[in-house]
Amino acid sequence: MSFMTLGFCQPILKAIADLGYNQPTDIQKQAIPAILAGKDVVAAAQTGTGKTASFVLPILERLNIERKLRGKRIRVLILTPTRELAVQVEESISQYAKNLNLSSMAMYGGVDINAQKQKLIWGVDIVVATPGRLLDLAFQRALHFDELETLVLDEADRMLDMGFIDDINKIVERLPVDRQNLLFSATISNEVRRLASTVVNKAVEIAISPKQATVAKIDQWLVTTDKTNKSALLSHLIKDNQWQQALIFIETQHGAAKLVSQLEKRGIIAESIHGGRNQANREKILKDFKSGKIKFLVATGVAARGIDIGELERVINYDLPSEVDDYIHRIGRTGRAGASGEAISLVSKDNFRELCAIESRLGHIIERKEFAEFPVKKIVPVSILNYVPKNRRT
Ligand code: AMP
Repeated sequence: MSFMTLGFCQPILKAIADLGYNQPTDIQKQAIPAILAGKDVVAAAQTGTGKTASFVLPILERLNIERKLRGKRIRVLILTPTRELAVQVEESISQYAKNLNLSSMAMYGGVDINAQKQKLIWGVDIVVATPGRLLDLAFQRALHFDELETLVLDEADRMLDMGFIDDINKIVERLPVDRQNLLFSATISNEVRRLASTVVNKAVEIAISPKQATVAKIDQWLVTTDKTNKSALLSHLIKDNQWQQALIFIETQHGAAKLVSQLEKRGIIAESIHGGRNQANREKILKDFKSGKIKFLVATGVAARGIDIGELERVINYDLPSEVDDYIHRIGRTGRAGASGEAISLVSKDNFRELCAIESRLGHIIERKEFAEFPVKKIVPVSILNYVPKNRRT
């Protein structure tokens, strides 16, 4: 199956070809025909599978059939959990729509609301928004939904985790009943199903399994270590392997700042990105990381969620996340859509529970590497693979 047989118009085919996409990914093969046919879709797919293009491309194709731009009246609404993801999705739209006469914008809080209002007055076809700012603007009657054709909930599981359910409900209540609904989620938990049941209608269900999607292409390994040795071990790994770039995940803002200064003491220049930094700052850091100006970026989980860097070769879990889904998302940052990637975790004994949960989900033990310079005092046992966390969400 090729993009041409999927039925896209020339301007879209040209944009895809310019990006070097040769053929559709699994999720694209399944989702695109259903969306083009106007059906609702519920898809279990993670970042790295090409899921963004799987909904953006058919949406563009459908919008392009008829041009009817009107001030304050949007035709497509894409809801995302974070500002970074909103920006990233909007960037993808701009790339795919570069030969079309359609407009899009990212809408999120923390930045000047008036500039966003002005843009809406001029007319926007596709809005990619975080729920809070969108509601603000809707309450202020800066945008209207009466001509809305398509609603997309992107990373629905994460939106629920972040407590956006009430906002989502308030938004959905304002939308026309007759619309297309697309829901994408890394995992389809009971909560996601409940949300889907109130939003979508007779949906086509698509599941791209994690193994199919990302895990198989990513070289995962871990180093067990004592907690106190982590920053020295990380510096050693960076220098010894001559790594040129890495996205490093850490749990807390405080930990991020501390790690940056510890790395700097060892001659490694790093930056940190976390929710405590203002939006302009975060955007600048992300841009510099993408361009390679910043080589090592230490990120807390939420801040890191929407980061899409095409050539990212490596992610490092300085701390293991407490949720398995977060681990899968994180490693999905690398090895995207066919490229190979590496995911390395530094694991101390107090992470054993998280490690068991992750390895149980993966269905295999992650390869362990040892470094003679860093002998471990508190040994991390080998995981039990059928481990079920007590607080597991279904
Ligand atoms: P996503 O899963 O939407 O985060 O996309 C992951 C990455 O895959 C992005 O960098 C896209 O540019 C890229 N991508 C999407 N579709 C394709 C495709 N058909 N072929 C090659 N790369 C793709």
